[in-house]
Amino acid sequence: METLLKKLFQANSLTGDDLLYLLNNVDAGTEQLLFDLAHKTRIKNFGKKVYLRGLLEFSNYCRQNCLYCGLRRDNRRVSRYRLSREEIWRLCQRSYELGFRTFVLQSGEDPFYTDDLLADIIAGLKERFPAAAVTLSLGEKSRHSYQRYFAAGADRYLLRHETAARPLYERLHPGMSLQNRQKCLQELKEIGYQVGAGFIVGLPEQGNEELVADLLYLKNLQPHMVGIGPLIVHPDTPLRDWPNGSGKKTLLCLALTRLLLPEVLLPATTALNVLSPNGLERGLQAGANVVMLNIAPAAIRVKYELYKGRVQDNVEGPALLEKIKTRIIRAGFSIDMGRGDHPGWTSNREKESSTD
Ligand code: SAM
Ligand code: SF4
Repeated sequence: METLLKKLFQANSLTGDDLLYLLNNVDAGTEQLLFDLAHKTRIKNFGKKVYLRGLLEFSNYCRQNCLYCGLRRDNRRVSRYRLSREEIWRLCQRSYELGFRTFVLQSGEDPFYTDDLLADIIAGLKERFPAAAVTLSLGEKSRHSYQRYFAAGADRYLLRHETAARPLYERLHPGMSLQNRQKCLQELKEIGYQVGAGFIVGLPEQGNEELVADLLYLKNLQPHMVGIGPLIVHPDTPLRDWPNGSGKKTLLCLALTRLLLPEVLLPATTALNVLSPNGLERGLQAGANVVMLNIAPAAIRVKYELYKGRVQDNVEGPALLEKIKTRIIRAGFSIDMGRGDHPGWTSNREKESSTD
């Protein structure tokens, strides 16, 4: 076990069988060694830096019906909202003044926001805040749409693959296919985005074999960012009777991802922090190096309810920022509010924009 972990630490690679062996046999002692090696790897590549991102969930309308998600279209109990272009710019302005240099614009798959409107929103942000990065997380779109947003100035795109196990993917995402999800990720990379993939831990019928498929998919894709969080069940979804995902298994996956992709931007996700009060600190100690803070007012945040308990208090704006900064520093890390690009990323924007 220790030999395998050291091999992974040195070579940043392991076979599927070895990864499966690790996940099946990890005990308290080897778990600590895994976290220590993941921590060493993050220190080597990023020091103690934790990048802060401003997350703005601008619409909770969604045309998809993912079985686990509280925003799914068949959930009639959601009070739906959309933010206007001006509201989005105003909230980003406020978070820019607080020091944020990455805005993450996330929503359900909401056709109200046409490509023209999205391009306008993105271009408006880049015009106002040329020093800031714009990250999108809007779900599956055509290559043409992705290209338009990139030409308007978007820098990064988050699209978790959710699970790389095809039958599981298809059961959980009616009307969607893993093939298309992966095609989107490939296209985003080709266009020149910094791309984020990732998966949910604790999905029904997901065992260690399926998690190994996720890790191998990530190793092969070489994304710039990876989002990994536990499933947290929502009572108004078909998974209402399913247990939450395991925080510990999520931490193991974070640490393995740090070792497989040493330079990756890896958030300590909100879902991890909802599962346990010190989830954020434990995520950072297992190799995570990014934290996303919600920049919408609490009255909006409560409506973006992917799962219950997502918004834990009413703290917002500068008070929220101070609270999170204190926690990060107390956990032994330092704050970086810069753009925080992937270390290996170089822009090919000029080339792509001229071919659009
Ligand atoms: N609609 C876009 C998409 O699906 O890519 C972006 C928004 S979606 C709400 C962002 C992520 O939330 C998804 O990729 C999924 O992994 C996560 N998510 C949704 N419901 C969840 C749940 N019940 N527990 C944990 N994560 C969940
Ligand atoms: Fe929509 Fe994203 Fe939720 Fe799926 S995970 S229902 S695409 S918001």
